[in-house]
Amino acid sequence: MAIDFTIPVEVDRLRSRVRDFVRDEVAPREARIFADGGPDDEVRLDLQARAREAGLLSPHLPTRWGGLGLDVRGQSIVFEEAGWALLGPLALNCAAPDEGNGHLLSKVGTPEQQERYLGPLARGEIRTAFAMTEPPPGAGSDPSALATTARQVAGGWRIDGEKRFITGADGAAVTICMARHDDRPGATMFLVEADNPGLRLVRHMETIDRISVGGHAVVRFEDCFVPDDAVLGEVGKGFRNAQVRLGPARLTHCMRWLGAARRAHDIAVEHAADRRLFGDRLADHGMARQVIADNVIDLTTAQTLIWRAAWALDSGDPARDLTSIAKVQVSEAVGRIVDRSVQLAGGLGVAEESLLGRIYIEVRPFRVYDGPSEAHRWALARRVVPREEGRP
Ligand SMILES: Cc1cc2nc3c(=O)[nH]c(=O)nc-3n(C[C@H](O)[C@H](O)[C@H](O)COP(=O)(O)OP(=O)(O)OC[C@H]3O[C@@H](n4cnc5c(N)ncnc54)[C@H](O)[C@@H]3O)c2cc1C
Repeated sequence: MAIDFTIPVEVDRLRSRVRDFVRDEVAPREARIFADGGPDDEVRLDLQARAREAGLLSPHLPTRWGGLGLDVRGQSIVFEEAGWALLGPLALNCAAPDEGNGHLLSKVGTPEQQERYLGPLARGEIRTAFAMTEPPPGAGSDPSALATTARQVAGGWRIDGEKRFITGADGAAVTICMARHDDRPGATMFLVEADNPGLRLVRHMETIDRISVGGHAVVRFEDCFVPDDAVLGEVGKGFRNAQVRLGPARLTHCMRWLGAARRAHDIAVEHAADRRLFGDRLADHGMARQVIADNVIDLTTAQTLIWRAAWALDSGDPARDLTSIAKVQVSEAVGRIVDRSVQLAGGLGVAEESLLGRIYIEVRPFRVYDGPSEAHRWALARRVVPREEGRP
């Protein structure tokens, strides 16, 4: 079977426009924004207005909703370019969790749900959140431990449970909540609007990253009533539909963070090419050359793996293994690239002003969310060597 990585001319042109946009409009503003504590909605609206003006908003969403309608291979080109600036994906409205939520709504939302949420999301008018993770003993690395419940009542459902690490929950117009059923197998996703009296923001969770508007929060669903038309996808098909979101979403994370790793590498290489140490340019020392070469190897293999999984997704394959493999390999490669770049850049490597220190911090959680490396390795190995009979 031929694997086609040809980049269509129009995608290549778009890549150039995104490249110019993030370098001219986004990157110069980042140091100030992070010095002020990270992006808020005012920053988001400003950056997205610039992207809209440049015709670059929502590249992943269908053209019917005002997006650019890129397939997954097209996204892999454009998202990597956007990710070169930490706030590039936010500017283009293709950052997590909105990007994955938009994809999910476009695939399983009803026409009414798409009209109500996807249109405003694509236009950057609203933000959204995705609520899966719970405090122990609930869902985390193991989604089957889902503890939040949904009970069917007259005209709708009542949801009860607590979620944590919910990115962007503070300020999200709608939160997609995963809940399981007591009286039937499986789980269901529900669209819960911000003004629902049964949804409460319990507290913010301070984490090392600063990149997400609204940060991360603990939220509680307390006797939270939602009508029948708040069901996203089919009742009982929540886990299957979670894969519709999570498979592609873990790959788009890889694309964006690969862009950030490339920037870290660019900063370090520029330093190594300029800096003279012990009578030579830093870049001419053998140990520095090894660092640079190892970065190039990691950058190239990560990109190839992303393109391979993107091609599979575009061909209609759910690519469960390939997206897991890419998530593990790319998140770990990105960590290595950024760590080496920090070392090569010396003090500049940990300085906020070069943004390298910020990139170093921002990429670390990627090895935990969307499935920690160990959970993906566990699942991959289990598909190679199935469980013994009689074991769950
Ligand atoms: C910055 C950030 C943003 C997030 N945003 C969201 C969000 O918007 N919505 C949401 O629902 N969740 C979100 N999460 C939560 C994230 O998905 C979870 O943190 C992740 O799934 C791990 O779950 P846990 O934290 O409960 O860790 P645990 O499940 O307790 O796992 C702890 C560790 O156990 C190890 N481990 C896991 N499986 C295995 C195994 N099979 N064998 C050996 N070791 C293993 C791993 O090292 C793992 O890190 C976010 C997390 C972070 C850090």
